[in-house]
Amino acid sequence: MGKKTTSGNQCSFCGRNEREVNLLISGMTGFICDMCTEQAHEIVNETFKSSSKSDHGLTLSSLPKPAQIKEFLDQYVIKQDNAKRFLAVAVYNHYKRILQKNTKDDVEIEKSNIIMVGATGTGKTLLARTIAKLLAVPFTIVDATVLTEAGYVGEDIESILTRLLQVADYDVNAAERGIVFIDEIDKIARKSDNPSITRDVSGEGVQQGLLKLLEGATINVPPQGGRKHPEQRMIAVDTKNILFICGGAFDGIEKKIAQRLNTRVVGYAASGQKARIDTDNLLKYITPLDLKSFGLIPEIIGRLPILTYLEPLDRDALLRILVEPKNSIIKQYQKLFEMDGVKLTFDSGAHEYIVDKAIEFKLGARGLRSIVEAVMIDAMFTLPSEEKENKKLHVTRSYAKKQLENSDLHHLRVA
Ligand code: ADP
Repeated sequence: MGKKTTSGNQCSFCGRNEREVNLLISGMTGFICDMCTEQAHEIVNETFKSSSKSDHGLTLSSLPKPAQIKEFLDQYVIKQDNAKRFLAVAVYNHYKRILQKNTKDDVEIEKSNIIMVGATGTGKTLLARTIAKLLAVPFTIVDATVLTEAGYVGEDIESILTRLLQVADYDVNAAERGIVFIDEIDKIARKSDNPSITRDVSGEGVQQGLLKLLEGATINVPPQGGRKHPEQRMIAVDTKNILFICGGAFDGIEKKIAQRLNTRVVGYAASGQKARIDTDNLLKYITPLDLKSFGLIPEIIGRLPILTYLEPLDRDALLRILVEPKNSIIKQYQKLFEMDGVKLTFDSGAHEYIVDKAIEFKLGARGLRSIVEAVMIDAMFTLPSEEKENKKLHVTRSYAKKQLENSDLHHLRVA
């Protein structure tokens, strides 16, 4: 089988003669032409797709348990235990709710959407991305900053569901059990705690639109998104069982927490509460009330019942981020060099230098990659073309310092 024929044979499926087709493949007892193989391929794909549509192979015993989900997250994300535990439980419960939906039961489990608050670059998106690797349901990340009210420039709220439909391969059933991560939710906060008199295109109106999605409603979704295809047929998607995870930096919210704590603490001063407040990590005391002071409408807050926070990353955490995760930046560069036959190693002094610079430049975890890139660029340029056996590069603190000081990045130094 698999041999191209040479004589005047015909396809055993469609009957076309060898001259009428591009390719005729011979089997043990017959032939198949290129067109029929393509058609057969499509049939196979369709069949497998529809059989996987029905149950997605989910069973309670095969589900990863919250502890396993957290263990998985631990391999990629440093610290953030609180957020990891909440996420793990929420995802596990999400699965259970989906499974329960298939059984006749009086107790209907409601979903618990999540909101994660944490400074930029502390791992919110990374957590969402990492959990997506483990999921057996469609998952998408959307950015709230691009959302506007219908009719304004920007994307409509429905575009969130367009994305989910696309990752679900337009399988509406699957999309309706999916998970959506909405990043930068704080950017749609209204500008003050008081309801605005004027229209607030990017704030409250968007929150109202989002509310519909979070609450659970049947939304008509343009399958190709945007307003460029007015003729497209809408697809109805019920959001009742879609889990929403929101993330935001909520810059300045610490002040509001401090204010609230301060008033409370003064009231309890006699019981010595003041001493116990961790002022380096005020986010750990966050409550829904603070989100309201920041400008989220109470209805949205009510639809995000699980509130968790991310910890600030200190020097020690940045050092761990550089080397520990399964795909840490250092491991990624070692892999890149290894592909050119170069063994790349680092001094702990070099690690410390890179981290200290990320702190000095106020770049946080996100800056580690640009600093390592600046340190490695010369070697990445020259080493691949060097004709040598057993190539090696050992990066010391002084090598890292020299490379970085010669790079453009160094001008980032904060005066
Ligand atoms: P956020 O969404 O909170 O603004 P990200 O998740 O996008 O931040 O983090 C930016 C980058 O910084 C990530 O891609 C990752 O390389 C690194 N990073 C941030 N926080 C962590 C963490 N806790 N553990 C490991 N890497 C992290």
